[in-house]
Amino acid sequence: MKNVALVAHDKKKDQLIAWVKDHEAALSACTLYGTGTTGGRINDETGLSVTRLKSGPLGGDAQIGAMIAEGKLDTLIFFIDPLSALPHDVDVKSLLRLAILYDTALAVNEATASRLIPA
Ligand code: PGA
Repeated sequence: MKNVALVAHDKKKDQLIAWVKDHEAALSACTLYGTGTTGGRINDETGLSVTRLKSGPLGGDAQIGAMIAEGKLDTLIFFIDPLSALPHDVDVKSLLRLAILYDTALAVNEATASRLIPA
């Protein structure tokens, strides 16, 4: 089973929830992880069950980075907000860096996410 992490910045959360609903069948075949708020919304608003890590700014991004470094994650779906300054930008960069370093399948927008996890 594929291990997939789902993360969305605040202004991208509605978009991620809509995307998750559209891809629910495919995602139900995966083991899902999410940062705190994103994961909570997926658990509440879709039929899927996500293991919630800490909220992104409180270490959740770092936890996902650690999963990548330990070989425990296959795919990262990370809906980044390109229009807001984020207090945890350094964590975002670190997570992206680790995904690149370990050659983890990575989508930072909906078009790529839909190619990694077709509906
Ligand atoms: P959140 O974290 O799901 O807890 O809001 C996302 C992030 O900003 O990395």
